[in-house]
Amino acid sequence: MLDPYNRHITYLRISVTDRCNLRCRYCMPEEGVDLMAHEDILRFEEIEQLVKLSVDNGVTKIRLTGGEPLVRKGIVELVEMIARIPGVEDLSMTTNGILLDKYASDLKKAGLKRVNISLDTMDAEKYNYITRGGDINKVFKGIDVAQKVGLEPVKINCVVRNSSDEPDALAVKEFCEANNLSIRYIHQMNLEDGTFSKVDGGDGGNCASCNRLRLTADGSFKPCLFNELGYNIKEFGQEKAFQMAIKNKPLAGTRNKSGRFNQIGG
Ligand code: SAM
Ligand code: SF4
Repeated sequence: MLDPYNRHITYLRISVTDRCNLRCRYCMPEEGVDLMAHEDILRFEEIEQLVKLSVDNGVTKIRLTGGEPLVRKGIVELVEMIARIPGVEDLSMTTNGILLDKYASDLKKAGLKRVNISLDTMDAEKYNYITRGGDINKVFKGIDVAQKVGLEPVKINCVVRNSSDEPDALAVKEFCEANNLSIRYIHQMNLEDGTFSKVDGGDGGNCASCNRLRLTADGSFKPCLFNELGYNIKEFGQEKAFQMAIKNKPLAGTRNKSGRFNQIGG
């Protein structure tokens, strides 16, 4: 489907939960996180219907994100439900990788094509600091298993503070080159003050060619990460919420004073 600025909307990013097993400093506060009420979280059947509706309207590419998608109970089953929908050409996931060694094989069998795994540093202590408690060795294990089961290409999402030349970013690049991984640098963003830029090595952050729509875990279609607009299926109904999000997709992102990365899925 075309939005008012003639951009083809072909990519839906679905946040399947706002919960996470890490607390990255740039994404979530340490404590006092306002989590969505359990009864507001979309059921798998609802997500399935929404994917069908999106595919009927031109979406071909689905990414599951979060929060951490692998902490959503039954995630393999959800992948299976989405993968068998005719018209879903690409089904991927963005994960922190902590639980990936456990799930990679089942995810692959269920029809997941590929994964993006977040890794900002090669230093175990720094990783632990950034993520407030994460064990980098679990991520390495997850990467290894993902490659072994064929969730390819495995891409690494590396958040950089200033530039892709900073030491942590260079170390992650070296690791990627040595291990047949591709890397995307994402500049650390701030939703509230509207700081964002193009993703190096990816398609994000380029408003003129943005083909994305987002679905939050509690059922809001959001046309833009850097905008507060959102249309909840419980308020508008599935079809209208989807149509309104596309009809109101802004020409460019500005800022989002109320949104959080773990709720919208990055
Ligand atoms: N938990 C999963 C993960 O970390 O990969 C998926 C959800 S996370 C919100 C999706 C992506 O957003 C991750 O690659 C993460 O690094 C990125 N992200 C989170 N907060 C960010 C920020 N403030 N600026 C830029 N990227 C951010
Ligand atoms: Fe969790 Fe991903 Fe946010 Fe880190 S970036 S706190 S792993 S949702």
